[in-house]
Amino acid sequence: MNRRDFIKGSLAVAALAALGGCKQGKETTDVKEGSNGKKKGEMTKRKLGSIAGEVSLLGYGLMRLPLKDRKNQAEIDKEKAQELIDKAMAGGVNYYDTAWVYHQGMSERFAGEALKKYPRESYNLADKMPVWEVKSIDDAKRIFQEQLDRCQAEYFDFYLMHSLNGGAWPNVRDNGALEYARQMKKEGKVKNLGFSFHGDNKDLAVIADFGGWDFAQIQLNYFDWDDYSKEQYEILTSHGIPVVVMEPLKGGELANLRPKTLEMLTNARPNTTAAQWAFEFIASLPNVLTILSGMTYMEHVEENLKTFSPIEPLSDEGKELLAKVKEFMKEEGKIPCTTCRYCTPCPVGVVIPDIFKMYNNYRSSLVKWMSQREYFQLAKESRADACVECGACLKKCPQKINIPEELKRVHKEFTS
Ligand code: SF4
Ligand code: SF4
Repeated sequence: MNRRDFIKGSLAVAALAALGGCKQGKETTDVKEGSNGKKKGEMTKRKLGSIAGEVSLLGYGLMRLPLKDRKNQAEIDKEKAQELIDKAMAGGVNYYDTAWVYHQGMSERFAGEALKKYPRESYNLADKMPVWEVKSIDDAKRIFQEQLDRCQAEYFDFYLMHSLNGGAWPNVRDNGALEYARQMKKEGKVKNLGFSFHGDNKDLAVIADFGGWDFAQIQLNYFDWDDYSKEQYEILTSHGIPVVVMEPLKGGELANLRPKTLEMLTNARPNTTAAQWAFEFIASLPNVLTILSGMTYMEHVEENLKTFSPIEPLSDEGKELLAKVKEFMKEEGKIPCTTCRYCTPCPVGVVIPDIFKMYNNYRSSLVKWMSQREYFQLAKESRADACVECGACLKKCPQKINIPEELKRVHKEFTS
């Protein structure tokens, strides 16, 4: 996409906002900097809506940090993780996203330790209120203050009501969580107030209508675009709410295409990775403020910095090719698990996301026995057939996966 197309895109979004009405009386989309015109090696940044300052289009999601023990999410390998943060900071990434529950509470602590050596104004720290733990304004106050302590911070640049949906919204609106966050914004301890969302589009419209939001975080990638992401993006854009994107690679799935699928992309552009295609798709949406990537290894950071410094939004031909790739992928029969781990821990010990990851590797790999072997190396109580169908995981899955049913299918296929 050339500069003219990019500006045209921005105007289209502004027109959409005019149609939908701008609830907060502010510019819907004000893309100060596109990627074009940027120097090679310079991170693409955006300035949108009421948000002060420019935000790097690549954001760091601190939920998949390197671990010392891969079975223990709380055991972050701090030395390795610090190296990743240092590399990202040096490359111009200025948005770091943590949450109360990431790495069993250790992500917030790590964020505090890793970022304290940098001037506070050189990065944006995003954290989230675990709304399911809030019954009263006193709970909200206690949690918020502990989050500041964990992060060694005086304030949060971005603060979100975590994981809203139609069921959670009335509680959050009325039980003190939102009230306290708004109070913190008035006191300057929250600079920008938003929410993350996993739910139905009609509920997103209700929450957006409520108003007072500076930004919102949704799952958006080319695979889910026509199913729900497009409508969610348009709802937020029409309300003048800048979008923070989570799961741009669908839990890594869009970066690990099976060889035949990948060939469709490499035939078009031999030196472009599958992840780069996915990021460029999102970069072509002008109301996206930042794209969160949960980078675990140095190669992830280095490759992403290369992609975003600067990033070229995807052409219309490129988008058509991704639509074909999606159709091809649908035939692979993978489970749409993003390994977010919200379903864990399972009360009997089934390692749900690990099993789904093994299965998805199994579906896309030519060396299927390796995934099968990995599955049978799991302790018996961790395998899919240990599931007692209690249903505890079902309501926690934002992807609405029928986990017990899928576990049965996986076990059957692995043992066949
Ligand atoms: S339904 Fe199965 S996998 Fe889900 S929590 Fe219960 S036992 Fe664990
Ligand atoms: S099954 Fe659902 S909740 Fe569990 S890790 Fe996968 S996407 Fe997340």
